[in-house]
Amino acid sequence: MALIVQKYGGSSVRSTERIKRVAERVVATRGEGHDVVVVLSAMGDTTDRLLELARQVSDLPSPRELDMLLTSGERMANALAAMAIHSLGADACSLSGPQAGVITTSAYGKARIVDVTPRRVRQALDRGAIVLVAGFQGLSPETEDITTLGRGGSDTTAIALAAALKADVCEICTDVDGVYTADPRIVPEARRLEHITFESMEEMAASGAKVLALRSVEYARRCGVTVLVRSSCHTGPGTTVSGSADDDRGEHGDHGAITGVAHDVSCAKVAVTGVPDRPGTVARVFRAVADAGCEVDTAVQNVPGPAGGVRDITFLLPGDGAPAAVAALREIRAGTGFAEVHQDDDVAKVSVIGGGMRARPGATATFCEALAEAGVNIEIMSTSEIRISAVCRTARLHDAIRALHRAFGLDRTPGTTPDKTLDHTEAVPQT
Ligand code: ADP
Ligand code: ASP
Ligand code: MG
Repeated sequence: MALIVQKYGGSSVRSTERIKRVAERVVATRGEGHDVVVVLSAMGDTTDRLLELARQVSDLPSPRELDMLLTSGERMANALAAMAIHSLGADACSLSGPQAGVITTSAYGKARIVDVTPRRVRQALDRGAIVLVAGFQGLSPETEDITTLGRGGSDTTAIALAAALKADVCEICTDVDGVYTADPRIVPEARRLEHITFESMEEMAASGAKVLALRSVEYARRCGVTVLVRSSCHTGPGTTVSGSADDDRGEHGDHGAITGVAHDVSCAKVAVTGVPDRPGTVARVFRAVADAGCEVDTAVQNVPGPAGGVRDITFLLPGDGAPAAVAALREIRAGTGFAEVHQDDDVAKVSVIGGGMRARPGATATFCEALAEAGVNIEIMSTSEIRISAVCRTARLHDAIRALHRAFGLDRTPGTTPDKTLDHTEAVPQT
């Protein structure tokens, strides 16, 4: 008998019909003799709808009240699933994040899990119940308030519970049947990966592949939790996320290979122009952005022209943090002496992820040529040992992803059947 943590994302529980299907799957797993802990997200786009309701009553909703509001979405889905399981004749008990012992920092909206004390989960498992835990939330002992973990945070709840309970596996059940070499909704030729190391998955997630939330992968790596990403409606092998390329190059085999293409549409480009070219000015710009709670990604600054004296600095930020960063920059404008701040939301980032990028002859040239042939203009570019990224217009993103996938040899061999089971009842998201 194993202890299995299963997490189902929003699209897998978007209707009561879907919740009943999840209940059947969970009861079937229990029927095989396993202990089962289930983590559910809020139904469908509930979190977005709750955010919209908040915006309708306030221009600047209180972060504390936002967390009170948003956590209700996950509780609702879990309680409904518990009722559906009862209807199938099985014992089930739903718990909020705080009831399940999920302890977090006090940062509303982006709290981090610091501990999990799953006493009540254990008690319910011991009496033979299926335990359902509301994802994406916890309790801050400091403020005694309920907190949320950031978008996609139910993945982290599931992995943290799996670590605390020493579960045999944490299954992330979603609307695709594994981790692919690119988003299979955009690249039909993408291939499902049998296995991916924590490092490569972390890099894919950090570059925008939202099939797993970045923090959840970091948590899994730190605690050594084996994760299986699989379809919530179909059976199939899925993708195992485990191990490191260093400890097992032979078996895991993604050391030095191209892993995939990831994209991020949730970023914004901020340009600060006319920054005086003297020590300390750039530091003041980035300090203001940091104090506004934003993490900068891919920053570039130009070389001053022949006249010298000023530079332009351009960087990417998470889109939801950009307004606060821009407001903070406007406040220091006069003191720092720069000319202007511009925010551009119509940008996206595309990245090729793979080990040994610098040692790969011509990788940067291949990257740029592929985008050039696809007619995609590169606005900012950055390279590292494991990633080459470019910022482009959002409207050109899909072409960019497909071109890079092809150019780096990731396309499925023509004529082979797609491995897949995409949930085609979902519309292909437009960028
Ligand atoms: P859930 O609601 O189950 O948490 P998400 O929408 O957060 O699901 O993540 C699943 C989605 O991630 C898929 O529908 C797919 O469009 C997207 N995705 C992006 N990159 C990848 C990738 N490399 N492999 C698989 N899915 C990906
Ligand atoms: N419901 C939250 C979100 O939409 C958390 C999650 O789904 O993981 O981001
Ligand atoms: Mg998700």
